[in-house]
Amino acid sequence: MNQIAKSPELTEIIETKGHATGAQWLSRYSSALLGVFGTPQRVLVRGSGCLVWDADGKEYLDLLGGIAVNALGHAHPFVTSVISSQLATLGHVSNFFTSPTQIALAEKLLELSKAPAGSKVFFANSGTEAVEAAFKLARRNTGASPNGTERPRTKIIALEGAFHGRTMGALALTAKEAYRAPFAPLPAGVVHIPFGDIDALRAAVDETTAAVFLEPIQGEAGVRPLPAGYLQAAREATSAAGALLILDEVQTGIGRTGKWLASEDAGIVPDAVTLAKGLGGGFPIGALVTFGPEVSSLLSAGQHGTTFGGNPVATAAALATLHVLENQQVLAHVREVGEHLRAGLAGIDGVTEVRGEGLLIGFDLDADVGPGIVTAGLEAGFIVNSPGPHTIRLAPPLILSTGQADRFLAALPALLQTAKDAQ
Ligand SMILES: *Cc1c(COP(=O)(O)O)cnc(C)c1O
Repeated sequence: MNQIAKSPELTEIIETKGHATGAQWLSRYSSALLGVFGTPQRVLVRGSGCLVWDADGKEYLDLLGGIAVNALGHAHPFVTSVISSQLATLGHVSNFFTSPTQIALAEKLLELSKAPAGSKVFFANSGTEAVEAAFKLARRNTGASPNGTERPRTKIIALEGAFHGRTMGALALTAKEAYRAPFAPLPAGVVHIPFGDIDALRAAVDETTAAVFLEPIQGEAGVRPLPAGYLQAAREATSAAGALLILDEVQTGIGRTGKWLASEDAGIVPDAVTLAKGLGGGFPIGALVTFGPEVSSLLSAGQHGTTFGGNPVATAAALATLHVLENQQVLAHVREVGEHLRAGLAGIDGVTEVRGEGLLIGFDLDADVGPGIVTAGLEAGFIVNSPGPHTIRLAPPLILSTGQADRFLAALPALLQTAKDAQ
């Protein structure tokens, strides 16, 4: 028997058997939910692959994937069945204990990250928590002092345009003033330097620097890749100064760019990498990978922790997701469909620039119609995101088909026209 049927109330909520409309749900939403997200665009009730349906029965092609989270789309049968079977076996144990899935996933992440011997993993539940752990790691890089002061390494460098999360440490690394200002004072010592400027980076990194945080491609800033040579220059400068190089691959990792990590072709070994979004295939999980024995011993027993992080279900979800990514040539598919999409976008009238790699794509428009395209897209059955007034971001499930990509390319000129007409 379907266990949900035992509760008519839950049947109505989960299987939406009560046929409440989207408008009815949204009215309940605004009475019950803190208003930090504004009004949600739609009430989504069901998904399958790259498609989702709202409470009014309308279908959408999901070109955002829960912001680069639903790597294998919605309700992937293998991931769903692994999560269910782990939950039915053992769901939570606390970090006084461990479980085989946690250990196997840590090993898998080290292998995929080509991490040298002595590298380690810390599990969290989200991107911001992975970054928070990395921030604490940076604080522990007190290092030898050239001038004998007690705590010489208090400077942490991040880039203008950076997004690293919303908790206080991660927020200190995030650049956007509107996110930061209401919460001052933030943890001290973080400086933001101009994006992509190698000379500014070399000038900023010195022996008081604990760490440099970089996103190989800035996602929230509109899919902005670091210029060629930047990661190598950052590695050189941080190594020379004894500072850590920490790469935030929360959005760019887990095959999003058609590679395991977006930084993988740079030919450098970072000191730490943060992961989250796509890792659990939709299930919440984050991770910090620390490279080599020295960095991996900066945080000692008792200096950091989490109740839920690395729990059996989340780590099983990630193992299932990685299994599919590895065994079904998904990354080659990501490169192919990504290239196809970018080429198609570049040929559309009104698209002025196309950026990104694999299936993390940003494109600029010849007018400030980003939000208008989001609205027109929803009307036409497409979910996209506008991280800036004239920018659209796509981060669809990695299993997006060429046919689905073509469907969006064919619709875009009309969406652009609708958005311009509505201005
Ligand atoms: C989304 C994101 C985060 C924050 O992740 P949450 O899971 O929302 O806390 C951090 N860094 C980057 C690069 C991100 O894209």
